[in-house]
Amino acid sequence: MKFRGRWVSHLESAIDGTTFEADSIQTIHNGRPILVRYRLDEIASRVDRDIFTSRAPDMYRFRELLPVGVEIPPVTLGEHETPVLRCSRLGDQLGLNHLLIKDESHLPTGSFKSRGLSMAITMARHFGVSRVAIPTAGNAGGAMAAYAARCGMQAWVFMPSDTPLVNQAECVMFGARVVLVDGLINDCGKLVREGTPRAGWFDMSTLREPYRIEGKKTMGLELAMQGEWRLPDVIVYPAGGGTGLIGMWKAFLELRQLGWLEDATMPRMVAVQSEGCCPIAKAFEAGARFAEPFANAHTIASGLRVPVALGDFLILDAVRESEGCAVAIPEIEIGKFQQMAAGLEGISICPETGACIGALARLLDSGWIKRDEKVMVFNTGAAQKYIERAPEGLVRLTPGGEIPWDEILKD
Ligand SMILES: *Cc1c(COP(=O)(O)O)cnc(C)c1O
Repeated sequence: MKFRGRWVSHLESAIDGTTFEADSIQTIHNGRPILVRYRLDEIASRVDRDIFTSRAPDMYRFRELLPVGVEIPPVTLGEHETPVLRCSRLGDQLGLNHLLIKDESHLPTGSFKSRGLSMAITMARHFGVSRVAIPTAGNAGGAMAAYAARCGMQAWVFMPSDTPLVNQAECVMFGARVVLVDGLINDCGKLVREGTPRAGWFDMSTLREPYRIEGKKTMGLELAMQGEWRLPDVIVYPAGGGTGLIGMWKAFLELRQLGWLEDATMPRMVAVQSEGCCPIAKAFEAGARFAEPFANAHTIASGLRVPVALGDFLILDAVRESEGCAVAIPEIEIGKFQQMAAGLEGISICPETGACIGALARLLDSGWIKRDEKVMVFNTGAAQKYIERAPEGLVRLTPGGEIPWDEILKD
């Protein structure tokens, strides 16, 4: 069947359900995020899920379930379907029979952030925005700068002064104005808000506009389709601002409501953080609905360095509704697990995912995850974006010196 138009019914406050018109540019309501809602009954009766399989394998194949519908042309760099890789070597090491990694490092600008920012910039352009600004822990800034360049928008990126160098460089390369701030992402956010009246830019902060999470939602839609509409038992995901986890959970709920899942049992969602910055894990432990700001946040997993998240309650709700959990792993273990996973599988594992592998090891130890369960870990970005630490275990040759074959050939 042919469709026209779009399937968004309205926008809705995530905290109190207040509704807003579908075709308006929105930021937040009562200081909390706004979500996009769809006419799911109509989609269910008029769309066949098999249509997605027949289309070009990129995130816009799901357009009936996205704010663009069939009408709004996307700002795209080719957000290709990412592979789901079976990892039996790493699984054996951890004591898990069915380990999968969905490798998002293949996406434009090397992280899953491209899904969200392709969508957010697409919608901003649709609403006539020509200048955008973002506070970022790293990868979101790079992605926004790229999509802004792609459609000729002016972009400003505010990032902590110790953000990974590659993130700083990519933003400059994509023509954004970069401001380095001696502080954290929330300090950067304050600057963006302060500058808004003067600069007239649109504030692209995490969850301050409703469309970025719709882009992230495509991770969930894609993994469902790749698994022939069956979901894994457990999903392990690194949580910073939370858009990835919230978006994926939203995708699963919509798919279930559409009746498109073969089995309505939902995966248990595991939100992973570093002990160096774990407001969500602390709130989960405490049984709280909202997280407290985390003091002295520090972690090499820069995507997790988010001391305050606007969508904290949405992350926690998803974790609890799914009977999942939120865990923090020691900062010093992140590099070890990152190296272990990359070395066993050849996948370019980012530190955020290193933390996830550490969490997986713990949850297997404690019996929370069973050996036979099907577990999907997300590799959210490429290791190449983090070049601050010199690699260990290099052999150096000095000209004229003896060649240290024993050292070279050591296991
Ligand atoms: C941003 C980021 C995260 C955290 O994602 P959220 O959606 O902010 O929770 C994890 N990993 C990488 C590589 C990131 O860039």
